[in-house]
Amino acid sequence: MKKDFYIYNTASRTKEPFAPLHDTVGMYCCGPTVYNFAHIGNLRTYIFEDVLRRTLLSLGYTLKHIVNITDVGHLVSDADTGEDKMEKGAKREGKSVWDIAACYTQKFMENIRDLNIQNPDLFPRATDHIPQMIAMVQELERKGVTYRTGDGIYFDTAKFTAYPDFARLDPASIRAGERVDMGDKRSPTDFALWKFSPPGVKRQMEWESPWGAGFPGWHIECSAMALAYLPQPIEIHCGGTDHIRVHHTNEIAQAEGATGKPFVRYWLHGEFLVIDKGKMAKSGGNFVTLDSLKSRRIPPLAYRLFCFSAHYRSPLAFSWEGLAGAAQSLVNLRRDLVAGAKAPSEPADPGNAENLLKDFYAAVCDDLNMPQAMAALWDIVRNEKISPAERRAAAARADDILGLDLLQVPEEEPAESFAGEKDAAIRLTSGRPLTDAQKREIVEKVRQRQRARAVKDWGAADRFRTELTQLGATVKDRPDGTAEVAIQ
Ligand code: AMP
Ligand code: ZN
Repeated sequence: MKKDFYIYNTASRTKEPFAPLHDTVGMYCCGPTVYNFAHIGNLRTYIFEDVLRRTLLSLGYTLKHIVNITDVGHLVSDADTGEDKMEKGAKREGKSVWDIAACYTQKFMENIRDLNIQNPDLFPRATDHIPQMIAMVQELERKGVTYRTGDGIYFDTAKFTAYPDFARLDPASIRAGERVDMGDKRSPTDFALWKFSPPGVKRQMEWESPWGAGFPGWHIECSAMALAYLPQPIEIHCGGTDHIRVHHTNEIAQAEGATGKPFVRYWLHGEFLVIDKGKMAKSGGNFVTLDSLKSRRIPPLAYRLFCFSAHYRSPLAFSWEGLAGAAQSLVNLRRDLVAGAKAPSEPADPGNAENLLKDFYAAVCDDLNMPQAMAALWDIVRNEKISPAERRAAAARADDILGLDLLQVPEEEPAESFAGEKDAAIRLTSGRPLTDAQKREIVEKVRQRQRARAVKDWGAADRFRTELTQLGATVKDRPDGTAEVAIQ
């Protein structure tokens, strides 16, 4: 018999026992818009979805898991105005839209491989599914829930009475939005299903349709691709919390408007990675990529472990210090399991991996409570009453879900997160000229202090601060882990 698995369903705003509707569980996750690098905030969402996938598999479910690639039609504004993100990315880099899509799709694939995120069954590309999207828009037209404006075919949200339900939208706040410029839209919540290519403009990506040359709206992509591959109702649909209000609300309206059947049974949403109290966003320019972690010699799996320090439904604050702490923990875990595993000091408790992992599974099955699951794993790893072989066997089972390569031989040195003077983690300003040797000495001490802080060795950190003061350097620690060093 399968273990009970509880997941928080955004649709009901409650934790519910998971009960599949088909022999094969369908799972659709909104994938990347490939106009730029994914940032580690985006990757937090894919890590949470990967843990969900691995949990379902380890509970014995058969899965059909789809992650789409949005390579067209995602406009820079949710209000269906502004440029297409892909065309914008192409202009920025002086490349064709197709090249941009290929380049950032490949980067995304590298990122997920580095993070031990398992491949889904399929990565459908939006540009390969234009006929399915057109067919769905035609069906919506037949159902009488669309209208035409000067720039596209729109979904008439007034005709879908359940529209406000999913995001608990307040009709008063929707009306307040009417003051915003809506173009020819009848309501601020109406959204484009198909956009016409602007007259006289030849877009790089455009397709013939019953309404002339144009391109699909972003939301229709996901509804059409999800239903192209998964039977309705789809068991699970995931994404980041930002998608609840517009993207997923619109997906539901389209899919249920076209088919008259419930679209999805369980909706799961991951909270944001935040930085400097704001969300990490590509548009905000405050984003960190996996490549920038790697260039500081922080292993990607340390970031995966860092993500397990918060529940997926809680915001997680990014800091370089926190990340360095996670890198150290990963080294410690592997060292305890592989290199330094001591023989039991007392006769080993008989037990098998499955038994030892009861608390671990209980935490995972309680809506993927990874901080608690990690605590349960540490209890096993540090339990000297259990033989090293049994600890390793239990860790290997846990790793089916964690994906941390726990039994890998650890590197001798913990990840070096602060690479030096050119590193953005240290900002030097000096009121007097410094020789290279003086600069090097100060930078080296700042680095040593940052390392000490990363492993919470406050005594050593204070000693380095005193030595820096003696050299005329004052250090200010910013919330993102950057050290501002002023030299008088
Ligand atoms: P995008 O490529 O912008 O469509 O985003 C891909 C996924 O990342 C979506 O599921 C978003 O909801 C999610 N996402 C965007 N920003 C963040 C963030 N700062 N933290 C966590 N997830 C995010
Ligand atoms: Zn989507």
